[in-house]
Amino acid sequence: MSPNNNNSTIQSSIMFSTTMQQQFMLRALAISHKALPKCQPNPPVGCVLVTNNEIIAEGFTQEIGHNHAEIEALKAYSSDMSDSIVGAMSDVIAYVTLEPCAFIGRTPACANAIIESGIKHVIVAMLDPDARNSGKGISILEKAGITVEVGLCHQQVSRFLSPYLNKSYPLS
Ligand SMILES: [Zn+2]
Repeated sequence: MSPNNNNSTIQSSIMFSTTMQQQFMLRALAISHKALPKCQPNPPVGCVLVTNNEIIAEGFTQEIGHNHAEIEALKAYSSDMSDSIVGAMSDVIAYVTLEPCAFIGRTPACANAIIESGIKHVIVAMLDPDARNSGKGISILEKAGITVEVGLCHQQVSRFLSPYLNKSYPLS
């Protein structure tokens, strides 16, 4: 194979994987619509867990005082978050439409739950402008050694989600 051919193979595989990632985030966006109207004043967030390019679990924000999207997805994957599951999640990528929460409100912080699950890679569409979060959720994940990417499908997610952000004072 000539170097040129080799090069184009690499290019197309990168494009393929980007498209797959976008599809996973758009799926998280699609299921986040189901959170409305019960989730309010919390924002309608969607989360999918992916391993080997397949969705293995999904979740969206439940009614106020109940699980956020990330916890719902983790629970869908494993009804009991036992130790044996924790190690098995190191090859799972979590796609979340909004930055995982860093604060303990009516429910425990999702950032901490993700760390405890053993997930090592989180992809987030947009940051949460809520003053209690706004980068803190990302920072907690990164400090725990998790790879975090922000901005995938930002435009599509922001168009839907932005009107619902910053509505959740004082508790979430
Ligand atoms: Zn949360």
